[in-house]
Amino acid sequence: MSSTSETKPGARQPNFGFVIDNRQCIGCHACSTACKSENEVPLGVYRTWVKSTETGLFPDTQRHFQVTRCNHCENPPCVSICPTAAMYQRSDGIVEFNKDMCIGCKGCMQACPYDAIYIDPETQTAAKCHFCSHRIEVGLEPACVVVCPEHAILAGDMNDPSSEISQVLAANESSVRKPSLGTAPKLFYIEGNEVNLQPTATERWPQTFSTTDVIEHDPSQPQEAGLIHIGGSRAEHMAQVGYNAQHQLPWHWPVPAYLVTKGIASGLMLLLAAAWLLGNLPFDRGLAIAGGLVSLVAMGLTTALLVYDLEQPQRFLYILRYPQWNSWLVRGAVFLIGFSNTVLIWWLIEVAAHMNWLSSSFADSTRAPLLWLITLFGVGTAIYTAFLFAQAKGRELWMSKLLPLHMLIQAVMVGAASLLVIALFLAIPEALLGFFRGAFGIAITLDLILTMTELGVPHGSDVTVAASRAISRGRYARMFWAGSLVLGHLIPLGLLATGLPLAAALAALCAVLGLYLYEYAFVMAPQEVPNS
Ligand code: SF4
Repeated sequence: MSSTSETKPGARQPNFGFVIDNRQCIGCHACSTACKSENEVPLGVYRTWVKSTETGLFPDTQRHFQVTRCNHCENPPCVSICPTAAMYQRSDGIVEFNKDMCIGCKGCMQACPYDAIYIDPETQTAAKCHFCSHRIEVGLEPACVVVCPEHAILAGDMNDPSSEISQVLAANESSVRKPSLGTAPKLFYIEGNEVNLQPTATERWPQTFSTTDVIEHDPSQPQEAGLIHIGGSRAEHMAQVGYNAQHQLPWHWPVPAYLVTKGIASGLMLLLAAAWLLGNLPFDRGLAIAGGLVSLVAMGLTTALLVYDLEQPQRFLYILRYPQWNSWLVRGAVFLIGFSNTVLIWWLIEVAAHMNWLSSSFADSTRAPLLWLITLFGVGTAIYTAFLFAQAKGRELWMSKLLPLHMLIQAVMVGAASLLVIALFLAIPEALLGFFRGAFGIAITLDLILTMTELGVPHGSDVTVAASRAISRGRYARMFWAGSLVLGHLIPLGLLATGLPLAAALAALCAVLGLYLYEYAFVMAPQEVPNS
């Protein structure tokens, strides 16, 4: 085999892929160790590993091996989501990464539906199988191919009809992992086993990386309790993961916290803009200054949380210096910067007018255009994360079409909540207070309906069902029912009905806390469903 990433003009473009021949694999793990030494992969993380699954009922049991790694997808979602093009697709089809460009946002780990990417504990940057591109460049095969004693791994140019990989693919039936996602994986399995290909096929799975999860048979249960179902049909008597090497969960509390702070910042300003642009409600400079300040502080927290969550926080400006415009992380950064700066300019003008450093007529004349601009950036700030989540093909629950609308309503809900708390310390016109109360009540009700709809509608895939179950009946159930539903919706609605200012402020605090608990469950649960 010989090729480089550069192709001479007129020459045929190579397209590299892998074939794993499960008829040959003996599960010796030589490929895993060869990959480790060739690419100096640190302890505890893996670019390739041999997943094994056991099926059947003693004595008719079977162990199935599956060499698992990056699929070098034709349509790689890890590349689309990467904000700096640190993850990129070469002209020969290899999906490569550049650790010097990686900011450690972990978006690629959420986008990969195959759990192929990890954070290198030594460089704190993303890494994965790169087809041993340094060997391909000099005409050598990847280390795993060379070391395999059974010739179970084939690597080569699928555009060359005379290559071994093309001929083997033409002569045999093969399968890929999760074909429905449209990523077009270029790692093909001959005699791929459904229980290995589909991570949710086993009853339960390891919650941590690098572990062995053996499901014991409960003697109090009839043996048939171990039955599994795949695609609606009954599978073998028992299926258990014998060995797997999942990677750690990429996102934790800072992400749900950032969703709340950015909701407060944008929702609050959207409501002020709506009141003064559309509602013909009385302008109140004290409220403008206090509301603008709260919005700016919330945006400051949002930025701090985003930077804190990076594995390479000192590189956060790479998003602006080396933007990859297909990524909603980059587009979102434009909304966040546009929103923060417009709010800051508007707020400074109002403060200056209040201090008589600027004429009030100047503040009056600039207010409407600035508030319209704030509205534009504010809507983008509130909802862009829904489009970012939609790029995360590894977390199917996040790909809901209702999410942009849901995030807008959540922003209005916590924005109104913040204004009700401000109203506790500031005398504001009754008409404005009534508007904020009304917006709060409507937003809570709509949020409740949307939350229940999103979890209640039938979900398309096993992965979505598993994540949704973890929220409504599993590990996050208490957080969802007691935290989000009761504390975040029912109690605030009851408090709001009393009509008392203090009760309204208390309702507002409950709603903000409830939203954080909901976002925590919504962010964490899909990450716990295995992708390998
Ligand atoms: Fe590899 Fe995953 Fe990216 Fe596909 S999405 S190219 S499997 S890292």
